[in-house]
Amino acid sequence: MPQNVLILGGGIIGLSCAFEAARRGYRVRLVEPGRLGGQASGAAAGMLAPYSENTEQPDEFFQLCLRSLRLFPEWIRDVEEASGLKADWVQSGSLNVFRHEADLLPAESRMRWHNAWGAKEELVTGAALRGLEPRLSSDAAFAVYSPEESHVYAPGLVAALETACGKMGIDLIDHAGEMLSMEIHSGGGASVFMANLPGALRADRLVICSGAWTGQFERWLGIAIPIHPIRGQICSYEGQLEELRHMVFSSQAYWVGKRIGRIVCGASEDVAGFDTSVTERGIERLLRASKQWFPMLAERETAHRWAGLRPATADGLPLIGPVRGNPAILMAAGHYRNGVLLSPATAKLTADMLDGLTGGQSASVFSPERFTLVPR
Ligand SMILES: Cc1cc2nc3c(=O)[nH]c(=O)nc-3n(C[C@H](O)[C@H](O)[C@H](O)COP(=O)(O)OP(=O)(O)OC[C@H]3O[C@@H](n4cnc5c(N)ncnc54)[C@H](O)[C@@H]3O)c2cc1C
Repeated sequence: MPQNVLILGGGIIGLSCAFEAARRGYRVRLVEPGRLGGQASGAAAGMLAPYSENTEQPDEFFQLCLRSLRLFPEWIRDVEEASGLKADWVQSGSLNVFRHEADLLPAESRMRWHNAWGAKEELVTGAALRGLEPRLSSDAAFAVYSPEESHVYAPGLVAALETACGKMGIDLIDHAGEMLSMEIHSGGGASVFMANLPGALRADRLVICSGAWTGQFERWLGIAIPIHPIRGQICSYEGQLEELRHMVFSSQAYWVGKRIGRIVCGASEDVAGFDTSVTERGIERLLRASKQWFPMLAERETAHRWAGLRPATADGLPLIGPVRGNPAILMAAGHYRNGVLLSPATAKLTADMLDGLTGGQSASVFSPERFTLVPR
C-alpha cells in the first residue's frame, strides 16, 4: 500500500478526506493556497438536509446524501473526540413551509417517496405547526416536517477537523500560494509546485479537493472538468436557538438557528466569477423573505453578511474518483450546495478508493471523467 497521500485543498472536503485517510494508516499531507476553511466551507450554513435538497427522485445523488447524513452521529463523535472541540451539531429537524394550497399535491408526492426511504415526514398545519415553530408567520398554510434533518456550525466543524488532523500528525500547509504546476510521474506518484513553497511537494497519491477552483486541473490532467463557481450571499441576525427551533425552508430563503446566538438566513445563487463580495441586491431578497416568514426579524438589523463560492458542475453532481484510470490521482470536488452534508460520505468513498476498492455504482455516476468523451 502506498503510504504518502497529498491532499490539495483545505476546505471541508480536503480536511475530511485527510482525517479519514490518516485513520486508515496513510501518511497524509494537506496543502492549501490560503487559509484552511477560508472559502466555501467557512461560508456554509451547515444544513444536513438530504430530503429538503432532493425533491425529485431517489437517484444515486440522493442516496449518497442520505448515507452521509446517517454517518454524521459517528463522524461528529469521532471528530469531536479527536479534536477536543465541539462542532455544534443540532438535531433540529426541518420544516418546509408553504403559503398556498396548490403546493399540497407536489409536497405530498415528495413526502411519499421520502418516507419510503425512512424520512418519517408528516404534514403539519394550524395549531400543530404553530406549536412546532411559534414565531413563524401565520400566513403559512402548511409545512412538511422532516425530523431527521439536522445542522452543524460549519466553521466549527472545519476548526474541529483542522485540530483533529493536526493532532493526528497530518502535515497541514496553509498559505502556500497558488499552484504553479503539477507533474505526474511515469514511475508512479505526482508532484505539485506552490508559489510560496520552495521545491516540489511529492506524493504517491494525490487527492484533488480544490472546490470551485478544480477547473484549473484540466491543463495538467487532460480531461474536461466543467466546474464553475456559484456565489452564495448569506446573512445572519442576532437571535437565540429557542427562537427558531427547526431549520425552515421557504421558496425564497432558509433560516437556521445557531448555538452561537445567530439566526442564519441564506442564500443567493448568482454567477459572479470568483468574486466573493456581498451586494445589496443579493441580500435584499433574503431580508424581504425574513420579514414575510418571521415578523420578529422585521425590525432586526443583520449582524453579519458574507458570501462564498459553491463548486457547481455541469450536471450538478460531484466528481469523486480516479482520474485517467490512474489510481495515483483521485478527485473529490464539485459538491455544489451540499459539501458539508456530503463530507463524511465523500471522505469514506475516497479512502475506499485509496484502499483499492472500486466504489461500486457511485464510482461510475460520480466519475470525474464522465465529461471527457474523447481523451485529449
Ligand atoms: C452561502 C453558502 C451556503 C452553503 N450552505 C450549505 C449547507 O447548508 N449545507 C451544505 O452541505 N453545503 C452548503 N454549502 C456548500 C458547501 O459550502 C460546499 O459544497 C463545500 O464547502 C465545498 O467544500 P470544498 O472543500 O470542496 O470547497 P472549499 O471550501 O471552497 O475548499 C476548496 C479549497 O481548495 C483550495 N484550492 C484551490 N486551488 C487549489 C490548488 N491548486 N491546490 C490546493 N488547494 C487549492 C481553495 O483555496 C479552497 O480553500 C453552502 C455554500 C455557500 C456558499
